Amino acid sequence: MSALAPISWKLERGRKRKSGKKKVIGVLALQGDFLEHRQVLRALGTDAKEVRTAEELNAVDALIMPGGESTTVARLMDAYRLRAPLKKRIQAGMPVWGTCAGMILLAKRLKEDRPDPLQVMDIEVSRNAFGRQVDSFEADLAIKTLGKKLFHAVFIRAPVILKIGKGVEVLARLPDGAPVAARQRHMLATAFHPELSGDHWMHEYFLNMADRYGQ
Ligand code: GLN
Repeated sequence: MSALAPISWKLERGRKRKSGKKKVIGVLALQGDFLEHRQVLRALGTDAKEVRTAEELNAVDALIMPGGESTTVARLMDAYRLRAPLKKRIQAGMPVWGTCAGMILLAKRLKEDRPDPLQVMDIEVSRNAFGRQVDSFEADLAIKTLGKKLFHAVFIRAPVILKIGKGVEVLARLPDGAPVAARQRHMLATAFHPELSGDHWMHEYFLNMADRYGQ
């Protein structure tokens, strides 16, 4: 377990769980690095379910939408008839966390024409925002609620948030000010890949969100 974990534990654990029951966490498993997310969750004692169909979505309380290729994930989401039920669940308050391509799919607007995002989170996003030379890079980020420690963030052909709506809180920025992590109530978005950094803090943060916002 990461050395940073206890900080979030203290911060987010303040309130009692509503049901007293562990929430079932799902990972959208259409394409991309859903296995890596499952591994981190397993290390935290949570056996996440893979979600590909509306039935599987019904069986979870919260969902991680992993990184990958957003156009492919969107196409598969339509092929599996998952778009409408997923959008409905998120709009009804299901805790959701989009990382990288997942963040692109949560956005209300994209700068680019493709893919069609779910339009649930009040952010405008631009894909592949860091150009070819720096397709991938790593940065130690100060994240709101993490305290003084920095989070080692891995960016892979990452998107960036261009605009945020009223109810959205920016949780982290790059040194140039670009927002790369944000939260709107039960929705969390990160441009980077916390499942690859070896630090489980963000996953714990989301598990705590799932506890607090679960239906
Ligand atoms: N560049 C990808 C896209 O536009 C996202 C990359 C990622 O998820 N690591 O979908």
